This record gives sequence, structure tokens and C-alpha cells, in this order.
Amino acid sequence: MKNEFLFGKHQEYRQPHLIPELTLEDIAPQWAARLEKVQHRFPFFMSLTWLKWYRELKYTSKCVVGEAHGHSSGYVYSCDECANIGFKFMYYFMLNWHRKLEQNKQRFVKHWNEKHRKNYLNNL
Ligand SMILES: [Zn+2]
Repeated sequence: MKNEFLFGKHQEYRQPHLIPELTLEDIAPQWAARLEKVQHRFPFFMSLTWLKWYRELKYTSKCVVGEAHGHSSGYVYSCDECANIGFKFMYYFMLNWHRKLEQNKQRFVKHWNEKHRKNYLNNL
């Protein structure tokens, strides 16, 4: 209810400038918290937590992009950019490549705000 004023379906079209940019915390909160830890060098490479997260990153519905799409893998067919970004999250995580992970995160947030934000807000 509290979102009605800013994000109501009709308000949105009339006043798009009122809609704030979304962050990864808004889009995929569980993975946002995990990726934050990764930047602080946790979990340790090949630890049980690392393996669990890596396994989830391999599932298109459970990875960062999947969480953003409501734990659905439909984006693999409907959005090439999301599919590509999802793959790169897994790849950079596997290589323990923190800087690239962060860049990929920023690329995803930018893409989401440009292409998927409107649908996301309509479904709140
Ligand atoms: Zn997309």
C-alpha cells in the first residue's frame, strides 16, 4: 500500500522521474548480501559455502539473475543480456575473480534499470 503513491501503475507513466534507481539489494537481495561478502574475500575458495553458492550460480533460476527474475529461468530465452550476465557471474565466481564480479554486478544493475525496472515495479 505504501508503494501505491510512487509506484502505482498509473503514477509511474506520468512521473517516471520519481522512480529511484534500483540497487542490487532491491533487485536480488539474497545474492546482493552474498556478493558483498565475496568482496571481503568470503567464502573461502572451495569451502562448503563457496561450493553451495557456485552450485546455485550454475542454475539459471537460482543464480543472481534468476533471483531477480523471481526464481524463474525464462530470461534465458527472452533476454540475451541477462543470460550473458548470468553466465559471467558463475564464470567469475568460479575463477575467484572479485574485480570482474563487481564489474558484472554493476553491468547487471545498469541493464536491469534500463530494461526491466518498469516491469519489476509494476509487480511490487
Ligand atoms: Zn535482461
